[in-house]
Amino acid sequence: MLFEAAGRPLELRDLPDPEPGPGEVLVDVRACAVCRTDLHILDGDLTEPKLPLVPGHQVVGTVATVGDGVREPVPGDLVGVAWLGRTCGTCAYCASGRENLCPDARFTGYDLDGGYADRLVADARSCLPVPAGFEPVEAAPLLCAGLIGYRALRFTGDARRVGLYGFGNAARLVTQVALHQGRELVAFTRPGDSETQRLALERGCVWAGDSTQAPPEPLDAAIVFAAVGDLVPLALAAVAPGGSVVCAEIHMSDIPSFAYDLLWRERVLRSVANLTRADGVELLALAAEIPLRTDPVVFPLALANDAVAAARAGGATTPVLVPG
Ligand SMILES: [Zn+2]
Ligand SMILES: [Zn+2]
Repeated sequence: MLFEAAGRPLELRDLPDPEPGPGEVLVDVRACAVCRTDLHILDGDLTEPKLPLVPGHQVVGTVATVGDGVREPVPGDLVGVAWLGRTCGTCAYCASGRENLCPDARFTGYDLDGGYADRLVADARSCLPVPAGFEPVEAAPLLCAGLIGYRALRFTGDARRVGLYGFGNAARLVTQVALHQGRELVAFTRPGDSETQRLALERGCVWAGDSTQAPPEPLDAAIVFAAVGDLVPLALAAVAPGGSVVCAEIHMSDIPSFAYDLLWRERVLRSVANLTRADGVELLALAAEIPLRTDPVVFPLALANDAVAAARAGGATTPVLVPG
């Protein structure tokens, strides 16, 4: 399904099979989840995609063939291909396990053709092992929302009482991991969104309320999943001294100025950028063990435009494209 220009629907096209070069693998796509970032690409908010482009960066598939020099993965392996498609491997960030900050990173379904397809070529080093028994359509939604959420949760350290601002896909996935780790969760939604608040309680949060409300007790940490800068001072006000506020969105509206008092006493404010391979390996193993419920809704690949519309409409499920 090809993206040719912002604002235009995806077009079903028959393209020649891509060939894996040295260090690359050819993957038969089994499932590709639709991410909100895909919408930003299709709408032209992210302005420099490869064109024409096959979108999709939450891909699970089976390795078909491997290029020169590839030892792992091997044909038949089930792998995940995520947003961080390729890194230089030699810069200071890559050398220190922070390849998510590599200045030469290339992104799947943006700089590189992605998973809205039958097949794609991926860098062998970026392929994540998907544990046996994990259904591809269940695993695919983890590869972006799940990973970003997992990295954000990791940055809250050993915080016991964690607040979630926004309760979309990523927050719902993080909720399951955090509860598995024995943490206590509270959820904040758009003021008056009682439906999402009810969902949060149903999914195990001990309290859910409006983002403008204070939590019943100060938080040890908060994760801001909504792209709303106004939430940052509210989240800082809700965390206890020494607590962290982690922003999990790629884009966020401006953060209003706030009194230094909100940051004082060793509160930490930070962002999360992409994900590392280590995050992916850890989360997929943990997800299979818990097991994580990802709420996929399957669409045939040819109906990608409908899947995109479903992602735009939001809700408590994730559209997943399945070829064939
Ligand atoms: Zn690098
Ligand atoms: Zn994504």
